[in-house]
Amino acid sequence: MFIIDSHLDLATNAINYNRNLRLPVMTIRKKERDMHLNDTQDRGNGTVAFPELRSGEVGLVVATIISRFAEKGNPIPSLNLPGWHSPEQAYAGGQAQLAWYKVMEDFGEMVQITGKSKLQKHLDLWNDKTIPDSTKPIGYILSLEGADSIINLSYLEKYYENGLRAIGLSHFGPGRYAAGTQSDGSGINDAGKSLLHEMDKLNMILDLTHLTDKGFFEAVNIYKGTVWASHQNCRSIINGERQFSDDQIKVIIERGGVIGGALDAWMLYPEFKLFPDHNIATDSPKALGINLEKLVDHFDHICQLAGNSLHIGFGSDLDGLYGTEQSPCDLDTIADLQKFNLILSKRGYTKEDIENVFHGNWLRLIINTWKD
Ligand SMILES: [Zn+2]
Repeated sequence: MFIIDSHLDLATNAINYNRNLRLPVMTIRKKERDMHLNDTQDRGNGTVAFPELRSGEVGLVVATIISRFAEKGNPIPSLNLPGWHSPEQAYAGGQAQLAWYKVMEDFGEMVQITGKSKLQKHLDLWNDKTIPDSTKPIGYILSLEGADSIINLSYLEKYYENGLRAIGLSHFGPGRYAAGTQSDGSGINDAGKSLLHEMDKLNMILDLTHLTDKGFFEAVNIYKGTVWASHQNCRSIINGERQFSDDQIKVIIERGGVIGGALDAWMLYPEFKLFPDHNIATDSPKALGINLEKLVDHFDHICQLAGNSLHIGFGSDLDGLYGTEQSPCDLDTIADLQKFNLILSKRGYTKEDIENVFHGNWLRLIINTWKD
């Protein structure tokens, strides 16, 4: 079944991790192991590349640019998340990631989706079973995870011209427009408020993931357009600011938004310790029994709050600073998202519910948002 994944840091993996995603996952892993790379905990453990996206029918993704600003370097060393020393450098770093997406388009690996007509054409292609999936490009909606690299509002226009259609104002730590996860908990500053107004005019999608609680409620009050939470689980199951409270989830439901369930092991199951060491996740998902089904607990909770299955989808965040060492034990590559078909039906989801989760909810939101 066709899958939409609302959060993949593909360009970060290509440009910052130096992974050639045109190769199969196994080849990328072997290369990193043969080279004895150990700069991050997930070396040799990647799960996402174009061949596996295709074999898993993950034909449409929200693909990020991440290019952070941090005046003093790295605000959260344990997360291995450095930032550029000026917004200008951050913008240029973002353009490097964009350049990679554009080259992938040149080679037929990807196709950028910026409006309804392109979306329909792309869905028709993936629906055509006479054409092998292995030859089809992965559609991508370009999103910015953390708005630091928008030097000023004129650069928002440039990004929009580049195809940018969704923005999350913050990431980890302090941000130029809004505070993020593991920051001082402050909200959205004046520049952030101006940015939200401009995004509204451009009919962009506001990604609420990584906002602080204060910033979340400020943002939903200011922003009139479409909201989603691209990679987000429930605080009632995993305590902590990175997960959304029931009140936050209810706001997203009321706004017609969709919440993308993330597969990072610590966000699925409370006993998995977050980054116990700089480079090594010592807990084993297998030993703790963290499997794909754990995400269904989060899905169920949101469905109970909504009274339906219309507000959940996949926002896997696979290879978002973690690999198999911190993923559900029954996931080897992103192609295993297809296992949710059986898992969800065993948990009582109907065929229609499963279609909603796999693609229907994201499609409805996007089609309702875009005008052309
Ligand atoms: Zn993230």
